[in-house]
Amino acid sequence: MSRVYNFSAGPAVLPEEVLKEAAEEMLDYRGCGMSVMEMSHRSKMFDNIIKEAEQDLRDLMNIPDNYKVLFLQGGAYTQFAAVPMNLMKNKKAAYIITGQWAKKAWKEAQNYGEAIAVASSEDKTFSYIPDCSDLDIPEDADYVYICENNTIYGTKFKKLPNTKGHILVADVSSCFLSEPIDVTKYGVIYGGVQKNIGPAGVAIVIVREDLITDDVLPGTPTMLKWKTQADNDSLFNTPPCYGIYICGKVFKWLKKQGGLAAMKEINEKKAKILYDFLDQSKLFKGTVVKEDRSLMNVPFVTGDEELDAKFVAEAKKQGFENIKGHRTVGGMRASIYNAMPIEGVEKLVEFMKKFEAENLK
Ligand SMILES: *Cc1c(COP(=O)(O)O)cnc(C)c1O
Repeated sequence: MSRVYNFSAGPAVLPEEVLKEAAEEMLDYRGCGMSVMEMSHRSKMFDNIIKEAEQDLRDLMNIPDNYKVLFLQGGAYTQFAAVPMNLMKNKKAAYIITGQWAKKAWKEAQNYGEAIAVASSEDKTFSYIPDCSDLDIPEDADYVYICENNTIYGTKFKKLPNTKGHILVADVSSCFLSEPIDVTKYGVIYGGVQKNIGPAGVAIVIVREDLITDDVLPGTPTMLKWKTQADNDSLFNTPPCYGIYICGKVFKWLKKQGGLAAMKEINEKKAKILYDFLDQSKLFKGTVVKEDRSLMNVPFVTGDEELDAKFVAEAKKQGFENIKGHRTVGGMRASIYNAMPIEGVEKLVEFMKKFEAENLK
């Protein structure tokens, strides 16, 4: 068996320890004679799994008691609709457009009410985060929406926008659990887990309790109503059981690493290795402004498409997988999520140095 360094933006690398443990428990989970995939979601066994996962997540993120944690299906994308359906009482919301995911969420919200783009960085291909200290947010907007880490472009909000008292909703898919955050600053935090937590098929939604009501837009499907899910502890219908089980293992792994403060330190160290190299390289360069650089997704280019393609091909031969940039951006992107070991980044930079020496004209 040999494992590659997987720089995929998602589904992405998971901790090897977690995969091994899951493999060991595959046929017989803790003496019950079946795998977690085969057990009833109403069983005592599974009840323990989901309760423990929730508690560990609460510990890691320091989630206050007045927030609910929901484990749902449908990925992040389903929440693009669920957010307006559950929150648009005045049928108005403010969106900050910092990339394709924010734009898709904004477009989706337009199906349900007036979704206003109050800021955008599209003028410079989303290579920066706009100044959000004094935005023109309508008084009666139901919420302000951000995509906190822009997976495709590699930018991140280092400071949350001034929402002027409005509820903040954040898609944190690609920075989930990468560093400590203050949950109380948000009304809703959500994301698909396949970037930084677990297998595709689970979305985690953390919602302040007072935002979970029966007062949703008419026609909201039962499954998309947060109240349905909250009242039933994410067990209204069959949840993505196996995915939740793996997420739970990743939460335990994160606790063992020292929690989110420790992860932040490691993630900063990892990202610095790559960014420091990019900043002095004569061949490669990063594509976003320094102040807004993501710790998780690092896009870079040589400026020559053919050379980019050559780099991607040679990298693959050396065991660096999925380093090709997003199809809409080109170039390269290294996603260095929590589970990417520091050696992966060190070896990538070593390889980039070698490639540079061989290809610099
Ligand atoms: C990947 C991604 C999504 C889409 O997630 P799905 O679970 O595939 O719906 C949404 N937002 C961000 C920031 C992402 O990185």
